[in-house]
Amino acid sequence: MADKGPSVLDDVLLQPYWDAATKGKLLLKHCTACGKNHYYPRPICPHCFSDKTEWLETKGEGTIYSWSVERRANPPYSIAYVTLPEGVTILSSIVDCDLNKLAIGQKVKLGFTEHDGKPAPVFRPA
Ligand SMILES: [Zn+2]
Repeated sequence: MADKGPSVLDDVLLQPYWDAATKGKLLLKHCTACGKNHYYPRPICPHCFSDKTEWLETKGEGTIYSWSVERRANPPYSIAYVTLPEGVTILSSIVDCDLNKLAIGQKVKLGFTEHDGKPAPVFRPA
């Protein structure tokens, strides 16, 4: 993988995230101080600024909150916000689907694709 400099997800604190992603599992952070979840994972809770955060494995389910299709690309691809039952909405992509049939509220399930040599969460129609 080419060195593109530091990124927030390259931080050593996020090694559990990468280990899980390699196994096809998506982790969030859960804050035991305020009870809220967040993504992307951070060592400090963005809701209450507590450092009492722990890893939480998602169910791998989601619902399309909003989406767009980049039709000028070859092949065209989607960009979508997907809301998880764990209460977070993440920016991702819907793959292996008819891009003309995506819909807000559509149920999707988690998968991973490789992006810049690392596993990236994507979703497929459920
Ligand atoms: Zn918190």
